[in-house]
Amino acid sequence: MNFRIPRGTVDLMPGEVEKWQYIEEKARDLCRRYHFSEIRTPIFEQTELFQRGVGETTDIVEKEMYTFTDRGGRSLTLRPEGTAGVVRSFVEKKIFGEPQPTKWFYIGPMYRYERPQAGRQRQFHQFGIEVFGTTDPALDAELIDLGWQFYRSVGLEGVKVDLNSVGCPECRPVHRTRLIEYLTPHKEALCKDCLSRLDRNPMRILDCKNESCQRVTEHAPRMVDHLCENCRPHFESVKESLDLLGVDYRLNTRLVRGLDYYTQTAFEFILEGQGGQAGSVGGGGRYNGLVEEIGGPEMPAIGFGLGLERVMLALESQKVELPLSKEVDCFLVTLGEEAKKCSITLLKELRQAGCSAERDYLDRKMKGQLKAADRAHARFVAILGENELKENRIVVKEMATGEQEAIQLNKLVEYVRQVRKG
Ligand SMILES: [Zn+2]
Ligand SMILES: [Zn+2]
Repeated sequence: MNFRIPRGTVDLMPGEVEKWQYIEEKARDLCRRYHFSEIRTPIFEQTELFQRGVGETTDIVEKEMYTFTDRGGRSLTLRPEGTAGVVRSFVEKKIFGEPQPTKWFYIGPMYRYERPQAGRQRQFHQFGIEVFGTTDPALDAELIDLGWQFYRSVGLEGVKVDLNSVGCPECRPVHRTRLIEYLTPHKEALCKDCLSRLDRNPMRILDCKNESCQRVTEHAPRMVDHLCENCRPHFESVKESLDLLGVDYRLNTRLVRGLDYYTQTAFEFILEGQGGQAGSVGGGGRYNGLVEEIGGPEMPAIGFGLGLERVMLALESQKVELPLSKEVDCFLVTLGEEAKKCSITLLKELRQAGCSAERDYLDRKMKGQLKAADRAHARFVAILGENELKENRIVVKEMATGEQEAIQLNKLVEYVRQVRKG
């Protein structure tokens, strides 16, 4: 039997994993500076949570979920996105009763049964943010800036922000009616999907990639022109804050959200892909109705989710060299049994002092050990032979320069530690 990795998944091998650790570290560091706390929710939840939280009529829930029945007969689903679980936790733990806002972030794997392609896997990873308990537009802008900073901090260039307001249950119906009035005479020009959207969810037609549909909607009534007296100043204020923050954003009135609980600010991060096509690498927005939908009180919220596979692809296509160090600080080369025995405690002392240290475990000769040190990207090789041992000394050689000197054996740890710090 030849076992194979499941379709749409990858092994992140040593060499690749370090890049992931690097971008995750960038995300964590940003979140620390913006005063967000990490939350880790389970990878599976009750299926109904996603039906409610993601929306029964979405592609995700209709076609893409990994749903299974456990031994207790419960229907569970591998999380297809991060928000529903985080909101469930916020409600279940009654965090809404504490002083607000609540500022959380998460990084982890998500699961969708999709046709695998470059940057799209069945197990994929997202970095996401959720904030509860405030409608302050300055926070919308700050969140967008955080996401924008994240792409820049890993070294990506040319990330733009598409911005829109999708209104609220107050003003959306007015726009919806105007939109249906406008689109109905052009019915014939709409694609099949949009035809069925016309009654159910006409806003989604603005989002259709079909050329004929796009021509029809080019001059369709825009949500931003129908914002109510709450939503209009909110949107203006978000834009003003983004200007202050220097975020490169543009108004995209085609940017919509399919579900009712999305309100006001909607945004996407757009990146030029290979061949000049621009694509969304992440997005988010306000969802002032979701906490209530999941069984909590009325509570404003906003968040985003960024696909990390897309980030890795973009790093590759932009040929960004991440500053990764594969270096081991010190490789101990020993000659003779006594020296080998001595290396056991030396290694431990080096490691306890915070240095990375390695040795040979295959009884290689001197030449073989030096080769192994090279393979391990050793910064220093410390050579301990019988003569050195007798004189309580050890030869330290810097691999990059070839410079070497003999130092006192009990000074080795301090020597490596000092150079490591400098
Ligand atoms: Zn409104
Ligand atoms: Zn269409």
